[in-house]
This record gives sequence, structure tokens and C-alpha cells, in this order.
Amino acid sequence: MATIRDVRIDAGLGMVVQRWRSTEDGLFLRARGQREEVRLVCRCGRSHWIVREQYAIGSASLLVMCHTCGTRGSFLLEGVTLPTP
Ligand SMILES: [Zn+2]
Repeated sequence: MATIRDVRIDAGLGMVVQRWRSTEDGLFLRARGQREEVRLVCRCGRSHWIVREQYAIGSASLLVMCHTCGTRGSFLLEGVTLPTP
């Protein structure tokens, strides 16, 4: 089993996320320029997040909110855009 790399929410802001998945062990993000997934950890030490994808014209973001303490963050989502009408 691979070692889990944890990234604190404060250190992770600015990451451009290519893929994400939510598991029993927490929220895993695959960011641009990184070979391995990282697990997003909150300031409170937990890694369970309420995740929402938000789409706007020309961009998409991943909004996260800590299940435990309500800390929020957002990341750019790469390669996801609305089809132009
Ligand atoms: Zn928290």
C-alpha cells in the first residue's frame, strides 16, 4: 500500500486539480505538476470534505468545506469547461 501524502489546506491553495476522489480515508486530489495524489487535510486535522464542483464560463472550480469545522477552500479544476453554446 502506498504512503499517503498529506497536504494542509493552507499549503494546498493554488493547486490546479486535475482529478479528485472522495474516499473513506479522505479527499484525494491529483494536482498539476504532481505525480501522486495528495490527501487534503484541514486545519483541524481531519480530511473529510464536502465537495462541490462549480462551473462558470471558461473555468471550473472545486469547492471544499470541512465536514468537521467548516473551513472552506477552492481550487481550479483543469480541463473541465462548459461547452460553448
Ligand atoms: Zn476542519
